[in-house]
Amino acid sequence: MAVMITESCISCNSCIDECPATAIVSADESPIKFDDIVYVKPEKCIECVDSTMPKCADACPTEGAIVWDMPYTELYDDYYMQGHEEGRYNIRVHPKKGIFSPKNNPKPFRENISTEDRTAHQPVIA
Ligand code: SF4
Ligand code: SF4
Repeated sequence: MAVMITESCISCNSCIDECPATAIVSADESPIKFDDIVYVKPEKCIECVDSTMPKCADACPTEGAIVWDMPYTELYDDYYMQGHEEGRYNIRVHPKKGIFSPKNNPKPFRENISTEDRTAHQPVIA
């Protein structure tokens, strides 16, 4: 990720069209079947590194709905793969290229966000 969306989300869907990476899907389209909330695909999120702030958070009216998750890099491959196994994430599997894991498909991330804030899933402040 990346960022993730929490149960504070009110499913207004304002963030979806703002994402430059088409990483956000509505609750209806979420691949996470046990969670009826808007979902960020961690294998697509680029943390809006080319913008001053994450565009999803800029569009979001709900405090605490969008929070930091770990960088989508090889260092966190086990973290995301375990989450995928447990159903917290649903990471795309390509029929030929295999799973788009952090190791196979690392994404840019904001280096100024601390590991502590990511581990604690601190809100993304717009
Ligand atoms: S941080 Fe940027 S790339 Fe990631 S989900 Fe939000 S809008 Fe999309
Ligand atoms: S903008 Fe915020 S409240 Fe609305 S769907 Fe996105 S995360 Fe949820």
